[in-house]
Amino acid sequence: MTVSASRPHRTPDPASMQQKPFYITTSIPYVNAAPHIGHAEEFVQADIIARYQRLRGRDVRFLSGTDDNALKNVLKAEEAGEPVAQYVSRHADIFEDLLQKLAISNDDFIRTASDPRHARGAQKLWQAFKPEDVYKKSYKGLYCVGCEEFKTEKDLVHGECPEHPGKKLEEVEEVNHFFRLGNYAATLEELLVSGSLKIVPESRKNEVLAFIRGGLEDLSISRSRARARDWGVPVPGDDGQVMYVWVDALSNYITALGYADEGNLYQKYWAGEADKVHVIGKGISRFHAIYWPAFLLSAGVPLPTELFVHGYLTVDGQKMSKTIGNVIDPFELITEYGADATRFFLARHIHPFEDSDFTRERFREAYNADLANGLGNQAARIMKLAQDNLDRPVELSAESLTLQQPFCELVEKYELSAATALIWEHISKADLYIQEKKPFTLVKSDDTREEGKEIIAKLVNHLAMIATHLAPIMPETAAKIMTAIKENKKPENLFARKD
Ligand SMILES: [Zn+2]
Repeated sequence: MTVSASRPHRTPDPASMQQKPFYITTSIPYVNAAPHIGHAEEFVQADIIARYQRLRGRDVRFLSGTDDNALKNVLKAEEAGEPVAQYVSRHADIFEDLLQKLAISNDDFIRTASDPRHARGAQKLWQAFKPEDVYKKSYKGLYCVGCEEFKTEKDLVHGECPEHPGKKLEEVEEVNHFFRLGNYAATLEELLVSGSLKIVPESRKNEVLAFIRGGLEDLSISRSRARARDWGVPVPGDDGQVMYVWVDALSNYITALGYADEGNLYQKYWAGEADKVHVIGKGISRFHAIYWPAFLLSAGVPLPTELFVHGYLTVDGQKMSKTIGNVIDPFELITEYGADATRFFLARHIHPFEDSDFTRERFREAYNADLANGLGNQAARIMKLAQDNLDRPVELSAESLTLQQPFCELVEKYELSAATALIWEHISKADLYIQEKKPFTLVKSDDTREEGKEIIAKLVNHLAMIATHLAPIMPETAAKIMTAIKENKKPENLFARKD
């Protein structure tokens, strides 16, 4: 897919030319239902980081996609009486549409069932596993279709999967390929402790370390073709089996770069010195911090450098569920409030790491307070003063077009809410400055008109600084403000009040 037109073009300075390439991914959602607000949260988080890194002059590649091969997709398609390929493709379309409607700037979108790069790459990874890491045996266990993994007694709470309470675990007995995860326990521990594989926040790292120290059991990495309903990536050299969905799904991060042929993208964004960041939800940190690096280590493929693990969203204090009927449809929010308002709320009012509660009431209040009365009102006020009192557009200082260090530090630690809050502090400061200096009064009298104009020019520069910082978070609004400044014109109503 193509990137939205609002991406700013800047010439990177010589220092930034030496920066490492930057690769960032979202997780690939199952396509067994329409996307909800939690998906939008992750897309927006990853997009803010990708846009920020581009503004810093880095060479960025940003991947998203869909996990088409999960067993639960197959079961849902059966329920719907639809061919699996059609069901999966129809739902993947909706996810891709959401990315576009949210102005997500991904460079690529991989669909693991239909993308020819994927199966070849996943099979190559499998074939690269060290022979001593993989063996075949008969296995009997409890399978959670929700998590797409076998559960052991210690994983269960009151006999149920803690991620999927109320869902019956499936008893499965079959011959599977197994992966000796334990062969990598010491290496993984060392990677996490040293920070070679960094997990943000720290609390998630500690959870993963505790899990490793509790002992890693061998992992089933295939399932019978019959149980998989003949859907998925075939195990190389074993016709009766398809790959365990996580071996298949996780490999998307490299198959989309052309790992099958180890081409240019793969060399630049994975094999070399690039920073490689996976943005994921807390429920799949174990898969990304243990299974994925273990597979890569076995295959002799370089590891990702960082995991940004976000929390979950509840709605009105409850887990989102179709049964409760509280699932928030991000398309509805975008239609009613716009992409930028939705992006703003997710960045500013949802905690980047902890679980957060979403309510429509909070969304509307934040929209009115922060956007309609806050940013929108201030941009209109400053630009009206400029339009009425200045003969030509204000010449902007280099400083007002440069990202400030405190903001950069917060974004680089994924403290997206705090970074966004910093911008709103600047908005408040400008409001106070206007109240104190009263440029609207100064321009009315001959004695003070020049002073009033200078204050207005300062305010316009300040507004440009705000737009510069908004660009990764609210790209469309930032562009509208910069256009208004360049044309010395009051912008159209940016955020109409909602009652
Ligand atoms: Zn589960």
